[in-house]
Amino acid sequence: MIPPKFEYVAPTTLHEALSLLRHYGSEAKLLSGGQSLIPLMKLRLAAPAYLIDINRVPGLAYLEARDGFLRIGSLIREADLERSKLVRSHVPVVCETAAVVGDPLVRNLATIGGNLAHADPANDHPATMLALDAEIVATSLDGERTIPATAFFPDFFTSALNPDEILTEIRIPVPSAGSGGAYIKLERKVGDFAIAGVAAHVTIGADGVCERAGIGLTNVGPTPLKVPSAEAFLRGKHLDQDTIEHAAELAVAVSQPEADLRGSTAYKRDMVRVLTTRALTRALARAQGQAV
Ligand SMILES: Cc1cc2nc3c(=O)[nH]c(=O)nc-3n(C[C@H](O)[C@H](O)[C@H](O)COP(=O)(O)OP(=O)(O)OC[C@H]3O[C@@H](n4cnc5c(N)ncnc54)[C@H](O)[C@@H]3O)c2cc1C
Repeated sequence: MIPPKFEYVAPTTLHEALSLLRHYGSEAKLLSGGQSLIPLMKLRLAAPAYLIDINRVPGLAYLEARDGFLRIGSLIREADLERSKLVRSHVPVVCETAAVVGDPLVRNLATIGGNLAHADPANDHPATMLALDAEIVATSLDGERTIPATAFFPDFFTSALNPDEILTEIRIPVPSAGSGGAYIKLERKVGDFAIAGVAAHVTIGADGVCERAGIGLTNVGPTPLKVPSAEAFLRGKHLDQDTIEHAAELAVAVSQPEADLRGSTAYKRDMVRVLTTRALTRALARAQGQAV
């Protein structure tokens, strides 16, 4: 399929990109890796009059740990995340998530900024960002604002970005010692979107009690979903099998899957239960220092 006609612009500074975005408004779309946008244009589900390619904008592709946060520039590719020693040493669940996005060809181009900005409930990073209580930095000509991941996905395929904003950075609080995470995705075949996916992150104190828990769900609702009920339930408890299984039931209660080619609602709900149990169990083992 051939996309409709569009004007292509390739700014070389962030200020130029932001000025173009403000000038063209809702007629324009930003282009990062193009792994979601170009297929949509080819299917004629998106028809921007202007494509603002930000790949030549310097200073948007970095990884750094500073002031208690892992900071990820929005143009960082999935393949970079997957292989990054810095990310693996600070928040390994982000590498685990990147590694299951599409296939190697997709991961070489797709960016984390595009993955979040696209706000597809089937995309993998949102659940992990919800579990980690990440923050998203949006930049416009007026300056920067920080949006908690919990407020970033207000509706179906809708992000909290204003039309004149570029997602420039993702900030993840570096977990304290005794933390572990897991992202488990069930897919029909390698490279497919999730039937369901669950991100879990826990911090276990010296007394063996759960100090913090984060849980995010992929592709079982109109938006990526956080599970505050299970997170609150787990805090202050020893994470034994019964406790984990109860938290998984709370995750099922939050999920709102739709039946489609990937399965019935009953099947998807059951997968939320199974995957939440597995993700919490694996996160706990990792928090306890086990190599699983
Ligand atoms: C074959 C295939 C398989 C896939 N499988 C998966 C999968 O398993 N899991 C998964 O999560 N994804 C999957 N995807 C989707 C895709 O990988 C992600 O959505 C991708 O990460 C989007 O990033 P991008 O840089 O390619 O964004 P683009 O396609 O360039 O942009 C996507 C949207 O975000 C906007 N945007 C991009 N960058 C910014 C920014 N910095 N600030 C504001 N808005 C921005 C664009 O305007 C556009 O609306 C798959 C895609 C393909 C083609």
